[in-house]
Amino acid sequence: MALINENYLKLSEYYFFDEIEQKINAHKVIKPNAQVIRLGLGDVSQPLTGEVVKAMHAAVDELSKRETFRGYGPETGYRFLINSIIKNDYNSRGVNLSTDEVFISDGSKSDVGNIGHIFGRDNIIGITDPVYPVYENAAVMGGRSGYMRDDNLWSNIVYIPCTPENNYVPQLPEEKVDIIYLCYPNNPTGIALTKADLKKWVDYAIENHAIIIYDGAYCAYIQEPDIPHSIYEIKGAKKCAIEIRSFSKTAGFTGLRCSYTVVPHEIVGFTLYGNAVEVNKLWNRRATTYYNGTSYIVQRGAEAIYSKQGTKEIRENVAYYMTNAKIIREELEKGGFTVFGGINSPHVWVKTPYNMPSWRFFQQLLYDIDVVCTPGAGFGQGGEGWFRVTGFNSRENTIEAMNRIRKWV
Ligand code: PLP
Repeated sequence: MALINENYLKLSEYYFFDEIEQKINAHKVIKPNAQVIRLGLGDVSQPLTGEVVKAMHAAVDELSKRETFRGYGPETGYRFLINSIIKNDYNSRGVNLSTDEVFISDGSKSDVGNIGHIFGRDNIIGITDPVYPVYENAAVMGGRSGYMRDDNLWSNIVYIPCTPENNYVPQLPEEKVDIIYLCYPNNPTGIALTKADLKKWVDYAIENHAIIIYDGAYCAYIQEPDIPHSIYEIKGAKKCAIEIRSFSKTAGFTGLRCSYTVVPHEIVGFTLYGNAVEVNKLWNRRATTYYNGTSYIVQRGAEAIYSKQGTKEIRENVAYYMTNAKIIREELEKGGFTVFGGINSPHVWVKTPYNMPSWRFFQQLLYDIDVVCTPGAGFGQGGEGWFRVTGFNSRENTIEAMNRIRKWV
C-alpha cells in the first residue's frame, strides 16, 4: 500500500493563484464578453528584449550544429552566466563571491521551496505576515510547520507581523527563530528595507546562529538610494544569508525560467550534536542530484542582460512597469484608498474600502468592473482587508483599469 505525504492534506487543494484563476474563468462564463483587466497576477507583459532574443537565437544555432552542439550542461550553471552575475550583480556593489557559491536554477519559486530540503524538520521558521505564500506552503508540505494551532497558525512558524502601524517593516521577533524568510522589496506590500532595517536582521541571525533566506525577486525595481539590492551589502551577511534572485521580473523571464541562489561558504548549520556543517555543500549535493541544469539557450539569454545594450533594455522595461505602479498609486490615493508600496516595487498594497474582507472585495471588483486584483488574505492573516495591484500590465490597461475604478468608487 503506497502511503502519501499527508502534509499535503493540511493545505487547501489549490495554490492561491490557481484559486484566483478559477474565479476569473467562472466570471468569463457568466460574462463572456467582459474585457477583463488583470492587475492581480505577478506576470509581466512586455516581450523579451532584443539582446536576449539575439543571444538565444545564436544559442539555438550553436545547438543545431554537430561541432557546437551541447547536451547536459553543468547542473549548477554555466560559468559564463555565473561570472556575469558575480561581476555585475555583486562585485559592482562591493561583494565578492566565488563561482561555486552561485547556483543557476529554473526559477526562484523552485529554489524558495526546495531550500527547505537541506534543513532539519525541527527548525522554528520565521515568516513575515503578509508575504508570498510559497514559504509557508513549502514548510507545510515538507513537514516543517508543526501542527495547526487554534488560531489557524502553524506551531513551528513564528509569524512576524507587518502592519500599517510599523509601515510594514518587520520587527525582530521575541521568540527565537532558526530559519527566517525575508522578501524585499516585498511581495505583496511593495515595501523595501533600508540598510539599517536589514542590518538588524543580519545581526540577529549571526547572534542566534539562524539563517536568513533572502528572496530578492524584485531587486531590479529598487529606486531609492539607501535600499540594499543584495543582503550581502550588509556586513556579516555572508555568514548567515542565502540569497535567491530571479530573472523573471528583472528581464521578463517568467516563461523562460531562470534564477540563481547564492550560498556563501561561510554559512554553517548544525547537526543535533552541535557539529557545524557547511550549507553550501548540502545545497550543491541537492542541486547536482535533483537537477540537470537550466537550458543552455536560456542561460545565454540571461547572460545577455548584462551587456551594455542588454542592461539598457531591461532598465527601460522596469521603468515602464514602475510608471504603471506610480499611476496606480496616485489614482488610488486620489480615489481615497490607503496605499503602500509602488515606490521600490511594482506592487501596490491597498486597503479595501469599509474594511471589506479581501476576497469579497476581489469578487466585487471583478463582477462590477471586470478588474482583477489579488486578495490580500491569500498572503497570510495580516493581508486580510487589503488587496494587491501590480504595475505589470500594459500602460493602456493600467489606465483603463484606473478609470473604471475611479468611476466605480
Ligand atoms: N519570489 C517572489 C517574492 C515572487 O513574487 C515570485 C513570483 O511572483 C517568485 C519568487 C517566483 O519567481 P520565479 O518566476 O523566479 O519562479
